Amino acid sequence: MIKITASLLGVFCSLCAYSQNTAIIAHRGFWNCQEGGYSENSIASLKSAQRHGFWGSEFDVHITADNVLIVTHDHDVEGLPIATTQWKELKKHLLPNLERRPTLEKYLRQGKKHPETMLVLEFKKQASQEREDAMVDKAFALLKKYQMFRPDRVLFISFSRHICERIAREAPEFCNQYLNGDLTPAQLKELGINGMDYSRKVLTSHPEYISQAKELGLSTNVWTVNKKEEAEYFISLGIGAITTNDPLMVQALCN
Ligand code: MG
Repeated sequence: MIKITASLLGVFCSLCAYSQNTAIIAHRGFWNCQEGGYSENSIASLKSAQRHGFWGSEFDVHITADNVLIVTHDHDVEGLPIATTQWKELKKHLLPNLERRPTLEKYLRQGKKHPETMLVLEFKKQASQEREDAMVDKAFALLKKYQMFRPDRVLFISFSRHICERIAREAPEFCNQYLNGDLTPAQLKELGINGMDYSRKVLTSHPEYISQAKELGLSTNVWTVNKKEEAEYFISLGIGAITTNDPLMVQALCN
């Protein structure tokens, strides 16, 4: 039994932990399939993750020069730096499936339609704390506009310690997972950051982090696990969630 209902999730998130089952998170949506348009961070990839009923769908958020939040991974779009380029220029560059790169607003409108799929929102690191704050301010406002500022609908992740510490202060009821791998579970706890989403390399080197985090009441997640043996390994260690480009493979292991 893999799927956790949204209401149950709210309970677990408020305790900063998942259920005993492993949650499956589609990395950048379920994109590497026909229905996902083979396009990461697309609306098609989100719809595909929702259709398959995965526990969560991850996506990356950046802020443009004119303060539009967009869903895309890299710091540039075909060589145009997102931080210094206006949305009207960036939006001309389409995804492989010919979809326009989604704004966060458009993404949330689709996300809202399927409460059973958790939105795993990654705030990408920005050049300054001021730009990171502007991005978080705008995202929180959009989430509130769509009645999605809810711990049972959205989980936050970031490589930025500044962003995770801010979420810990201002939205402590949300699952808030740090990605960068350089802090122990005890250090995360000390900072008030209630979750750990570390790379498979970090957690293979430090498998003890998983049990330590769970004992401290932190939620746990690992990225990006695409091999069956590695997925089995992390499931055996009791990881809370697996972020993967092959969610069907992980789902088959959990059934
Ligand atoms: Mg990401």
